[in-house]
Amino acid sequence: MILVETDASESQMAEVGRVLNGLGLEVRPVGSGRQIVCVTGEDLQAPVMEVLGAIPGVRRVRQVGRPYVLAGRESGAEATVVRVGRAAIGSGEVTVIAGPCAVESREQLLDAARVVAASGAKILRGGTYKPRTSPYSFQGLERRGLELLAEVAAVTGLATVTEVIDERSLEAAVEYVDMLQVGSRNMQNFHLLQAVGRVGKPVLLKRGMSATIEEWLMAAEYILAEGNGQVVLCERGIRTFETYTRNTLDLSAVSLVKTLSHLPVIVDPSHATGRPELIAPMSRAAVAAGADGIIVEVHPKPERALCDGKQSLDPATFTQMMLEVGTVSRALGREA
Ligand code: PEP
Ligand code: MN
Repeated sequence: MILVETDASESQMAEVGRVLNGLGLEVRPVGSGRQIVCVTGEDLQAPVMEVLGAIPGVRRVRQVGRPYVLAGRESGAEATVVRVGRAAIGSGEVTVIAGPCAVESREQLLDAARVVAASGAKILRGGTYKPRTSPYSFQGLERRGLELLAEVAAVTGLATVTEVIDERSLEAAVEYVDMLQVGSRNMQNFHLLQAVGRVGKPVLLKRGMSATIEEWLMAAEYILAEGNGQVVLCERGIRTFETYTRNTLDLSAVSLVKTLSHLPVIVDPSHATGRPELIAPMSRAAVAAGADGIIVEVHPKPERALCDGKQSLDPATFTQMMLEVGTVSRALGREA
């Protein structure tokens, strides 16, 4: 893969594109569009690099070592800031996304959303198409849940994110929410990633529960390659031999991915630990590790939740956690 950096005008850019296409290379814009990336399946020979370097308007031609050309820092793109409602994820602020695992009723969602909004969090989460391990478990309210999300968002002023699990749920969700979540179980559902990439909405891409960092970044690459650069990565714990926690939170991945990629990274301490008493400490640690935000499950009555109640915070615990996250954020000079 080669990266062609240009300082060409728009008309020159069109010419650069024509020359590259003539060479049988696929052209994809990166970042502001002042650069272009060529992707080819064949080994690039030195003479091709020379031809590329000689095209008027081309400043530099580089071979890129990493396979995630668009998601990687080598693309030269500046830190990506993903705007969702009032949130600017990746801007330096610590963005908090919170809400129930699943939307269950208007009352449940509204109660949760009021707590979320009062705490200073900017985005409401709520699953309406749930990928459950058992076919007998609550599968979500589907379109009715999306309607409730939109309604509660309007009342509370929060932006919304919900998970999409296939093209049908994606088609429905785009009409109602501000951000689309691709869950751990679908991180390598490449057709879904492409479909999400073709929609012009921000995407929250969870790490697969047994995905390497490179596989995770390649999943992001699928979305970026479709022309959607608004991707936020989410570390949600990986499977290990440990059974006292639901998953093992890989905080080192957060700091590492920040060096490998220009995309924002957030942490989900709820699914990572599965234990309410670990959510506040892991949220504080996530901020300290450089995460751009957190996503936390909150339920007005966790003991009555239809999904993930055991790991959901009650309103008082969540409110206390938010104060602690604010303290750590400010200590690090970051806006909470
Ligand atoms: C969720 O956010 O409720 C969820 C199912 O998360 P994950 O895909 O990380 O398991
Ligand atoms: Mn959940």
